[in-house]
Amino acid sequence: STPPEDLHDFGVRHVTKGLGRITDGIMVKGEGSYVEYDDGRRMLDFTCGIGVTNLGHAHPKVSKAAADQCMQLVHSQCSIALHEPYLRLIERLIPVMPDPSLDSFFFWNSGSEAVEAAIKMARQLTKRQNIICMQGAYHGRTFGAMAVTKSKTIYSAGSHPLMPGVFSIPYPYWHQSNLPPSTPASLLSSNALYQLELLLAQQSSPADTAAIIIEPVLGEGGYVPAPAEFLQGLREVCDRHHILLIIDEVQSGFGRAGSWFSISESGVRPDILLMAKGLGNGFPISGVVSRRELTDKLKPGSMGGTYAGNAVSCAAAVAVNEVMVETNILDNVQARSIELFSALNALKYDPSLNPHILDVRGRGLMVGLEFASPTASEHSSTHSAATLPPPSATPHHSPHSANKYHHGKHPKNMAARVARRCIEKGMLILTTSVYEVVRFIPPLNVSKEDMKKGCGIFAESVREVVK
Ligand code: PMP
Repeated sequence: STPPEDLHDFGVRHVTKGLGRITDGIMVKGEGSYVEYDDGRRMLDFTCGIGVTNLGHAHPKVSKAAADQCMQLVHSQCSIALHEPYLRLIERLIPVMPDPSLDSFFFWNSGSEAVEAAIKMARQLTKRQNIICMQGAYHGRTFGAMAVTKSKTIYSAGSHPLMPGVFSIPYPYWHQSNLPPSTPASLLSSNALYQLELLLAQQSSPADTAAIIIEPVLGEGGYVPAPAEFLQGLREVCDRHHILLIIDEVQSGFGRAGSWFSISESGVRPDILLMAKGLGNGFPISGVVSRRELTDKLKPGSMGGTYAGNAVSCAAAVAVNEVMVETNILDNVQARSIELFSALNALKYDPSLNPHILDVRGRGLMVGLEFASPTASEHSSTHSAATLPPPSATPHHSPHSANKYHHGKHPKNMAARVARRCIEKGMLILTTSVYEVVRFIPPLNVSKEDMKKGCGIFAESVREVVK
């Protein structure tokens, strides 16, 4: 077998270059809010494997539930027979659904597959073809999901043509409309809804439009919550034209954004709700939820997949749900969220850092801090962008470089440089979007001490980079 000291080089040789990575070394252990590398490094994890390990790494109750299920039944293939964890999971999820109409469930393995299933369902059920998505959205890497992904070109560059019939409108995020950061939410919402009306009148007739898909908190596009009035406006348009509203809570769901599902804060009823990530706390599972009245029209056999709704993942997800309820996890999210916001706002309003920090925003423990940038478009092309582009790299200029609210006086690549500095100091953290955004996704049960420690490492890193 390969000696451990050679494993890193072995990985460089044999793991596809198509995977980007923000740290070197091999992760060997994860426990609670910390991960360990083979060289002995112990890191505070404010990434949660991109919003997945919400209860921390290797939560004992979740790991035990999975281990027990491994000894009982690993795989049934749900087109052959259902298994008990599948049904127990539905039983646990029904009470936390954002709307009581959501009563028909289907489990998949990944967020992307859930998105594919939602698109298929929407097309089959409405007998219409077109899908409207948001500029800045991220929905995954498979062909349908990639077609409704508009956050970075790296995800689809070189892979066109994608799924046809996709149209997009601006997310109510000031960058998407080239407006000042101080633009009121109501104006951003009405602007985006106006674009939707224009789109339906000029490009995709309602009679051809199957669904609108949206993340209630924009994730890979910059960690921006959608104003409630925007989501309500989408619901109204969907009702008027019998278009289905697909709410993608793959990242924002399961307490991440402060409530079980962040859409519930707007009172908007999804027609199809998508979940993954926090659902299994690291075990691969996603969910597509709709209402029976709709899904009863699907033909048996039209949905499915070998591993869809795997028994071990379902058993783990049941345990995740139990832990969340038993520990009143949302209380911890709220308390730590207040601490995180106050630490980040203290940096934002610190005169010595002015005007480098443009915005602090988010919900719960899905929080983004945006630095001012010389141009909005000089971004690294890697998925998570904590890595710096090579010194010789020519900045890629998108239309955003004309953004009049960005001036040459700000340092370049602030988000990536700060994230890298945090990593050097022992904290994993990610950037997001083509803008200068660092995102905070600590475990939902992170302790007060670790929150303080994470905020401290971040503040130090910002000061060192600004200097
Ligand atoms: N939707 C959203 C909102 C996501 O954040 C992601 C993953 N970042 C996906 C879909 C795709 O999920 P997966 O990577 O599990 O395919």
